[in-house]
Formats: sequence, C-alpha cells, structure tokens
Amino acid sequence: MSKPLVVITGASSGIGQATAQLFSRLGYPLLLLARRIERMEKLGLPNTLCRAVDVTQRDPLRAAVKEAEAKFGPADLIVNNAGVMLLGNVARQSPEEWDAMLDVNVKGLLNGIHVVLSGMVERRHGTIINISSIAGRKTFPNHAAYCGTKFAVHAISENLREEVAMSDVRVITIAPGAVETELLSHTTDTDIKSGYESWKEGMGGVIAATDIAEAIRFAYEQPQNLCIREIVLAATRQQ
Ligand code: NDP
Repeated sequence: MSKPLVVITGASSGIGQATAQLFSRLGYPLLLLARRIERMEKLGLPNTLCRAVDVTQRDPLRAAVKEAEAKFGPADLIVNNAGVMLLGNVARQSPEEWDAMLDVNVKGLLNGIHVVLSGMVERRHGTIINISSIAGRKTFPNHAAYCGTKFAVHAISENLREEVAMSDVRVITIAPGAVETELLSHTTDTDIKSGYESWKEGMGGVIAATDIAEAIRFAYEQPQNLCIREIVLAATRQQ
C-alpha cells in the first residue's frame, strides 16, 4: 500500500532535514517547506515537493499544502519543526528578535496546524507533531522569549490534543534537549553564544538531529489508536 503524504516545516537544515531524509528512506512522499528551497532541493529526495514557504505567511503555506495534496493525496502527518532561537538578555535584546521567535515558533506552528487540521478531522485520521524543546518545560538563563515560545508550544499541543481526540487525530509534542544543528548560529549576542558552546562542550557534546528524527518516526508509526503524547529526549549528561 502506498504511504501517505508527510509535511515537514523547516526542512532545509538540522532536525527537519534529518526527518525528511529518514521519512524518504521509509517511502513516504514529502512536502518540504522552508525559505531556502535550494537546500531542500539539493537533498534530491524522490516523491518530494519542495516549496520556498515562510511559515508566518498563511497563503503560500496553504497553497503549497494544496498542491502537494493534489499530487500525493491528503497529508497524514505534519511535523511543525520550523523554529528560531535568538538567545538574549531581556533588557538588552532587540524586541524584533522576540517578534521573530513568536512569529515563527508560535504563530508559524499554529499556521501549520490550521492548514491540515480540518482535513484530518473530516477523515478522522492524522497526526500533528509539534517540535518544542526542554526549554518548553524548564527555563534557562538568557532564554526568556525563546522559553516563552516553547512553553506555548506545549500548551497549544496539549490543548489541541484534547480538542481533536474524539476525531481520532493525534497531537504529539517532541521536546529535545540540545541538538547539534544551525539553531544557535542565529543568536546575535556573541558572549551568550560562546557561553552556550562551552556548556555543550562541558557535557561532552549533544545529541544528533537524526536522534530526533528517530523519535518522530517512533511516535508516528504507533497504531493510530495509540498517541504518544510527549517525548522528552536529551544527552544523558544534560542537566
Ligand atoms: P536549524 O536552524 O538547523 O533549523 C531551523 C529550520 O527552521 C530551518 O530549516 C529554517 O529554514 C526553518 N525556518 C526558520 N524560520 C522559518 C520561517 N519563517 N519559515 C519557514 N521555515 C523557517 O535548527 P534545528 O533543526 O535545531 O531546529 C528545528 C526545531 O527544533 C526548532 O523548532 C527548534 O526550536 C527545535 N529545537 C532545537 C534544539 C537544538 O538544540 N537544536 C533543541 C530543542 C528544540 P530556512 O532558514 O531555510 O527558512
């Protein structure tokens, strides 16, 4: 039997890219979304549509999902993974950086949910996986706005899970600890950035994007009547 469409946001690097590569090897047709389309196209994955979509922009997001569904059938899984982390001290950080995190990590995630949810509810089948963070469970220095967005992801996911449970739609939160990706590179405060790098080195390194992709696969490939509500995973040495 052919496998259903999987939509992955933020597929141009890190966790999203590793998830795209894993699900492609498993035989799923994919819709990959991010702003850097060339990075997604370079992966050369079969049965894959890549679209340059900013998840804060609802119309292009909806158009891309519609196009992929016309080609591959209804989306059965969306991995709302696109995210930005701009660490900063609240008094010193530019408020534009808070805007960017709130827009992508919270509103972008809601946009991803909205674009597939009514179809899933109608079909009484589907899975929404939201990528949060351990920073959505506990706070860390210089993470105020980022933690705010990730606490929001947990709250949105759990509330939505209850809302659609009787429609047999699953909502799953994956909360990684530190993962080796490009995420930290966008932080503009160089002292905070180097402090974070030292913290990672102090624990002897962090986990890989492929570890998170495997957790996503594990959660998704359970029978539809079993919902893994949340997975929290991190390097053993992470506090
Ligand atoms: P990366 O920076 O490697 O990847 C982030 C992805 O998000 C990129 O593909 C980027 O693509 C995309 N993205 C950013 N802004 C937008 C936007 N406006 N529209 C569409 N796509 C966007 O980081 P990670 O892989 O680490 O991050 C993935 C998720 O995992 C994030 O939600 C992050 O918060 C979470 N996470 C990461 C951890 C870590 O330590 N790395 C720990 C815990 C959670 P492009 O720039 O091409 O648009």
